[in-house]
Order: sequence, then C-alpha cells, then structure tokens
Amino acid sequence: MKRLIPMLLILSLPSFSFANGNSEESYFVKIPAKNAVERTKIASYGIAIEEILSDYIFGTAPLDLIEAVKDKFPGMDFYPVSSVLDFPKEDERYHNFEEILQFYSTISQNNPQIIKVVEIGRSLEDRPIHAILITDFANEGEEEKEPAILFLGTHHAREHLSTEVPIYLTEKLIEGYGTNQRITDLINHREIWIIPLVNPDGTIFDTDGGRYKSWRKNRSQNYDGSSGVDLNRNYGYMWGKEGSSGNPRSETYRGPAAWSEPEVVSIREFVLNHTNISILLTYHTYSELILYPWGYTYDPIADQRAQAVFVEMANKMAAMTNYTPMPGSDLYLVSGETCDWAWGERGIFGFTFELYPIRWGREGFYPGDEIIPTVGALNLEPALYLIDLADDPYRAISKNIFDPLAKSGLEIPLNVESIF
Ligand SMILES: [Zn+2]
Repeated sequence: MKRLIPMLLILSLPSFSFANGNSEESYFVKIPAKNAVERTKIASYGIAIEEILSDYIFGTAPLDLIEAVKDKFPGMDFYPVSSVLDFPKEDERYHNFEEILQFYSTISQNNPQIIKVVEIGRSLEDRPIHAILITDFANEGEEEKEPAILFLGTHHAREHLSTEVPIYLTEKLIEGYGTNQRITDLINHREIWIIPLVNPDGTIFDTDGGRYKSWRKNRSQNYDGSSGVDLNRNYGYMWGKEGSSGNPRSETYRGPAAWSEPEVVSIREFVLNHTNISILLTYHTYSELILYPWGYTYDPIADQRAQAVFVEMANKMAAMTNYTPMPGSDLYLVSGETCDWAWGERGIFGFTFELYPIRWGREGFYPGDEIIPTVGALNLEPALYLIDLADDPYRAISKNIFDPLAKSGLEIPLNVESIF
C-alpha cells in the first residue's frame, strides 16, 4: 500500500496540482463550529466530520458539494487530499483484500479446533464478506449456546486501521489459546465473532491505482451518476433522520432506503441469526474516541440501568486506552448507524471505537503500518473486557465484578466492597 506525502511537503510545492477534474474526489474541509448544534448543521449538509476541535471541525466532502454549500459556512477552508507514494517494501503490513482472504484461509487451516471462517454475504460488486468464529469447538454441544460478541471493522473504506485491529485481535486470541489462561477461558466459554472488513468494494477502490482516494462509502451507483452510500448511515433504525444526507454526492449519503445496501444487510442478517450476541464493537478511525448510543438524538437512553452499563463500560475502556468516552450525539447527530440499531432494535450493547490517531497531523486515515501493533495491543484489553462481559453485560455495574485492569484473568473475581 502507499504512504501519505507529508502535508508540509505538499504545501511547499505550490506548482504541484492535485486537482484532476474529478468532482467526486474528496477534499478536506475546515469549518468553524463551537458546539454539537453547529456541527450537526455541518453534517446535515453532507460533510463527513472527522475531527472535532474546540472552535472548528475537520471533515471531508467532494469538491462539488463544497462549492454548493461554502456560502453557508463563513470561514470555511478546503484543500485536496494529498497524493500518496507507495509504501516502502519493509512497510507493507496493511492487508489488501487478497491478503485478507489468505489470512482467513491460513488461520482456519492451522487452528481448526478454535477457528471457523464463514461467508455471511456478498458486497454490491459480489465480493465475499467473511466472519471469523473463535470458540472451542471440542466443547460445543456440551453446554447450551455460549454467549457471543461481535467485532466489526471498516464500514468506511479509507479507515484501513479498523481492519487491522480486528485482525490483530484474532491473531492474539489464537496465540493466547492454551498459553494464556484468561484468553483460553474466554475462548472456551464464548463465541467470538469478528468481521474485519464490512466494505470490501470501497476499500479496494480506495487503494486501487497507485494513490489513496480518501474514499469513505461503498460503491453503489446512485441515480444521479455519483457513487457510494455511507454504510454507517444505512442501518434501519431511525434511518433518514437528521444526521445523514439525502444528497447522493454527500459523504454521508444514507442511500435511497433503509437497508438498501447489501453490505449492511449482511450484517443485519448475521445478527438476526445469532441471537446470543449481547455486545458489539465496531471499529472506525480516527480521533481516539469511545462512542455509545444514542447517535440520532441528544437524549440519553431511557432505560437508566442500561445507560449506566454503557457509561461504566465506556469509562472502563477509556481508562484502558486513554480514548475519550461519550454518547455519539455529543459529537453531532448521526442517524442510521450501527450501534443505534444494535441497541434500539436488538438490545445489543454497541460501541464505536474511533482509533488512532487523535488528530489529523500527517497521518489521518493513513498512518504508516508501524503503528498497527501498537494500536492493536492498546485495543486488546477493551476487547477482552467486552468478551468477558458478553454473558451478562449488566455485570459491568454489579458489585462483584472482575477488574479488567488487573490483567489477572477470569479466575480472580474482585469484590469492590472489599476495597471501600
Ligand atoms: Zn468511520
């Protein structure tokens, strides 16, 4: 894959033109905005907000959309996403699509006692979408259906690190089976489902042709000739409300109808067919945030006990990662996204992780591959914490909990009352 040219280098080469006449190509935008209401206004015009600072946001949008809305946002700044160079030979740890398929094949052949990879659906361009199941098959059938958890990666094409983190999680679970007591116990008593790549078509498009395109959506062909639906605005719960766009050229185009896109239908059908799933974690990049419902409304979840579970889990995982926890709508309203649907329709505790980096800097969606093990390792502990709680998420707020930071594993329950 390729590396981003540092932004400073680009800015120092003013005669170097990156505009190629393709009005669908993404541009970066910087728009003054001080609060969630102002940010929601920006999002409602179809600009994908990627980073929030105290006085403004960074986002992306195609040039023709920017031209159409720039009068609405005084002080708006925009510039093209930079061109990229190839990754150097020693720097190719990002998995392209073929390498992901090879990974599935290798892990299932080498670990048949705990790994099964199944195709759960096809993308719009007819590529397979796979789920990895990690559980102890030898014990299958000895007890009733085990509690299950689902990890999702890369709804948004350019967020390549959000595929690498669930792949890293898979590798560490395999390595830990039989060598790490805590991981062995979790695999023996849980069904761990991992779908590293929800949007194969968009991801291939983003990396095809020798340069990144900063592509976010899938590759649906829209009625106006533009391409792509935002898969994280196409889920059927509260679809079409504020926090998504009806403009097909927009980065946050919700699609012509709820569930119009085969990629999210695959996820829906998978979840409906696995009623033992109690917790879901969907990885995105970037900003280093831990988000939970609601996205579509500023209101908190009505069920106060469930709300307390969301807050407690998010706070615990924030302590493990130094990411910032909050309801998604604290950023800006989002409708038709994964976790609102998971909770609103299925009662599944859903979290969105916005991974590294915390700021755009020189990297944004395209950090070098040397960061993969660091970000993967940082995100291992929250994953194990959630896998543990999949049998009863309400255990997160019960008096007798396992201390996830103690790293002592399932075998040593920590009684909070004995501390205070
Ligand atoms: Zn995303």
